[in-house]
Amino acid sequence: MTDAKKPLPKVGFFDFTSCEGCQLTVVDCLQTHPELLDVIDIVEFREAMTGHAERYDIAFIEGSCTRPSDEERLASIRARATVVVALGACAHIAGINAIRNNMSLAEVRNIVYGTEGDKFESYPARPIGTVIKVDFMVPGCPISSEEFLQIVTVLLQGRSPELPDYPVCIECKLRETVCVYHRGRTCLGPVTRAGCRAICPAAGYECVGCRGLTSNPNLESLEQVMAEHGLKSDAMQSRLDMFLAWEMNERRAKEASRE
Ligand code: SF4
Ligand code: SF4
Ligand code: SF4
Repeated sequence: MTDAKKPLPKVGFFDFTSCEGCQLTVVDCLQTHPELLDVIDIVEFREAMTGHAERYDIAFIEGSCTRPSDEERLASIRARATVVVALGACAHIAGINAIRNNMSLAEVRNIVYGTEGDKFESYPARPIGTVIKVDFMVPGCPISSEEFLQIVTVLLQGRSPELPDYPVCIECKLRETVCVYHRGRTCLGPVTRAGCRAICPAAGYECVGCRGLTSNPNLESLEQVMAEHGLKSDAMQSRLDMFLAWEMNERRAKEASRE
């Protein structure tokens, strides 16, 4: 008599404020790597299927927390999941949703909803890790399929995925890409977490920081380099405040509390 087949790990995908592009990347991944479905049991994934489960071995959460009611839903997912993974920049660092954190909420509501703005609950965008414990993250906007597959594989092996904590410049140099600074552009690669193989500079564009800051970014040096290339402090701040607004505001708040 053979042993009963071991149940596959139950995996759920959830979305909060986002464009859902990271979930689309997962759907694409499942089409290019259908063998993934032999090793996981996707039990909840609104973008791709109907279904609901009470427990998840891994919950992937896309999107930022942007309203009080999100907190309750996040806590409910956390309580039912063994491992929680932030999927993409919106969940990991609040991403471009946090651009609005540097504007007045009334102004933002007015731009988005017009005179009906007060009818919608909303507050400054924040990463999900500020609301619930997040175990791991898949950075990027959107996530890379390759990195997603690597992280899923490592999790299924019962190990902890580790992200690079060095700047995009390292990967860029390894690819022997001509630095965009030499092409008259400015780039956030010196302070942004690597792992994307520096795809933007390789395509001739600057890095805009979608993978978040490294743990010890040298922002003073970046400012100096940008100034040498004609980018004034305000312009550099607005560049940093595209994907990195939440992280930059946290840093500014910490610096202000030390003064
Ligand atoms: S990280 Fe980018 S691609 Fe992913 S949900 Fe957010 S905006 Fe969309
Ligand atoms: S293009 Fe950007 S990432 Fe590449 S070396 Fe230059 S500054 Fe660094
Ligand atoms: S180069 Fe920068 S902006 Fe482009 S994918 Fe990598 S981290 Fe994101």
